[in-house]
Amino acid sequence: MDFEFSAEDETFREEVREFLSEKLTPSLRRAAAKTTTVFADKDLAMRWQKILVEKGWAVPPWPLEHGGTNWTPTQKYIVGEEFSKAGAPGLIPLGLRMLAPVLFKYGTDEQKNYYLPRMLSGEHYWCQGYSEPGSGSDLSSLRTAAVKDGDDYLVNGTKMWTTHAQFADHIFCLVRTDSSGKPQAGITFLLIPMDTPGITVKPIITLAGDHEVNQVFFDDVRVPQANRVGPEHQGWTVAKYLLEFERGGGGASIRLMVSLDELKAIAQQELEDAAPLLDLTGFRNRLSELEIRTSALQFSELATLARMSRGGSPGPGSSLAKNTSVEIEQGINSLKLEAVQYYGLPHANLISLNSHNEPWPGPEYAETVTAKYLNSRAASIFGGSTEVQKNIIAKAVLGL
Ligand SMILES: Cc1cc2nc3c(=O)[nH]c(=O)nc-3n(C[C@H](O)[C@H](O)[C@H](O)COP(=O)(O)OP(=O)(O)OC[C@H]3O[C@@H](n4cnc5c(N)ncnc54)[C@H](O)[C@@H]3O)c2cc1C
Repeated sequence: MDFEFSAEDETFREEVREFLSEKLTPSLRRAAAKTTTVFADKDLAMRWQKILVEKGWAVPPWPLEHGGTNWTPTQKYIVGEEFSKAGAPGLIPLGLRMLAPVLFKYGTDEQKNYYLPRMLSGEHYWCQGYSEPGSGSDLSSLRTAAVKDGDDYLVNGTKMWTTHAQFADHIFCLVRTDSSGKPQAGITFLLIPMDTPGITVKPIITLAGDHEVNQVFFDDVRVPQANRVGPEHQGWTVAKYLLEFERGGGGASIRLMVSLDELKAIAQQELEDAAPLLDLTGFRNRLSELEIRTSALQFSELATLARMSRGGSPGPGSSLAKNTSVEIEQGINSLKLEAVQYYGLPHANLISLNSHNEPWPGPEYAETVTAKYLNSRAASIFGGSTEVQKNIIAKAVLGL
């Protein structure tokens, strides 16, 4: 296999580097390095989104006429690689990368014309109302009900683990419109402004001390039928299409390599019996195992990239990539926590990192380690839990 990039791709890489050296300011970089949660802080993500929109690079997969870039899969990979290495903030994918493709495929012209430009400008900020108490992996059992009332639906029920609902002004929601047949056959996909009377958002503070997720309650919430995406009762098809974009991230190995470099730098500084941790055989072996697995993941990502360049799709192998990358990420975070030792105790979460003025009591590299360790425990649950991905691998990859 030839994994060399072409001369044109290397020229493109130079352009990306120039852009980053000009626009990714030290303050943006610092704020991104302090991100301990799955999604970047809203203000940070929106600052970076504005810069990318000005450059025309915010939404590469969108059609050209709506602001897309027409990049090849290799160019997208290069951008991901350079952005990760430079420490750029992540954009919030809920609207731009998850809802947008759904609107392009299933939305009416009115919906596309209204929602897409506002999503891009940052005027609208979205959250995802899929999971409910009791309906996560088994999503089709969801019970939040929408009953027709004139030109509207009346929505009643609750959504759980809704990331950034406290910031969002819109939610895309799966609701039950029919209970008579198969559970999948009675679901409808709705777009709901969060300021509609009857919506309440209650924070859920995570193990890491972050306020990232919420429970959202709907009490007689009136939603115009014009806010439905796709036909009534057929929201399951729309929902599954959206999940392809939620799960099909790719490019995790670069992020992991950056994190491995951070781990090595910590292990070079931290000592045990006067020797750097990096020189201790037991520590080195565990680090090397993570490095080898990351390198294997990178080769399988590049193989997927080659397939996609020839018009293929990521396929069910993306479940394998998700589980592998999550295991490596959690492994690196465990080793980092072990390496910083006592400095892991006074742990700072996103809220305190952004609000306290007191200097951090330990080395700078230890500041976010515990928060990231705790937050990354959730990675084997969201976007399809590890066990559910294993079921997919067993059926679709191994044919069991
Ligand atoms: C940090 C975070 C952010 C989230 N953000 C959002 C959001 O913005 N919007 C949203 O809609 N949802 C969100 N979720 C919810 C997420 O999608 C669900 O937590 C996930 O689908 C798992 O569902 P559950 O929590 O109900 O667990 P369950 O489905 O009840 O699973 C419990 C355990 O049983 C296992 N299990 C379940 N079914 C099977 C099976 N068939 N075979 C083997 N094992 C199985 C699971 O692997 C898990 O270990 C978020 C979750 C987290 C943790």
